[in-house]
Amino acid sequence: MRGLRSRTDSIAVPLNSAVETEKAQALLQTFSTASLLASAGLGAFCLLADAVLSSSFIQQHTWLRAVLDNSVHGVIALWSWAIVIGLRKKSDFYEVLLAGFLASAIDLDHFYMAGSLSLKAALNLPRRPPLHCSTLVPVLCFSLRLLMWACRLKDSWCSLPWLLFISLASHHIRDGVRHGLWLWPFANTPPISYWLYVTITATLPHLCSVLMYLTGTRDMISTKHGVAIDV
Ligand SMILES: [Zn+2]
Repeated sequence: MRGLRSRTDSIAVPLNSAVETEKAQALLQTFSTASLLASAGLGAFCLLADAVLSSSFIQQHTWLRAVLDNSVHGVIALWSWAIVIGLRKKSDFYEVLLAGFLASAIDLDHFYMAGSLSLKAALNLPRRPPLHCSTLVPVLCFSLRLLMWACRLKDSWCSLPWLLFISLASHHIRDGVRHGLWLWPFANTPPISYWLYVTITATLPHLCSVLMYLTGTRDMISTKHGVAIDV
């Protein structure tokens, strides 16, 4: 027995240090050159997209402006999630598309609140629609985490609450340039300055990666992918 225990201990020590090394590498790769270039590209995309959206042709066509503005929300979210997870296999592309879809789908609450498909009604609401309440972001993400825990979903779903976080948070920050953040039951913040929006958007994937590392989600993803994440 004594011999078996000492042998187990001697195996456990190198295994633990290997896991720690892998965790440290996963965190360092969050700040790799490729990852930083991808987030600089994301910031540049924000600037380019807003320059295009402010052109007089697009401003004159309300539906075109609404569709393109909504698409920008989607692209920012999918780009952000791609930075967080890296694109290694087919399922990563599905995750990235899901992030983009969720970020765009948030704006459907405008039509829900207007009770009509009229764009004019949806854009002229007496108050902001429910999914635009920023206090809901942590509540929804945490509720999803609890639901997954209650349903005992597999580790392969572990990143879903963070995907939802990126989709909601990136949308709210972009909308915040015009409207500020709606922090019910507290007051609204003033509108977010444009450069702060670009900076937060480009930084958010890295913040998300670090938070995922601190909460242990990143280790689960590393195990799921079989290798440390290269982002
Ligand atoms: Zn919106």
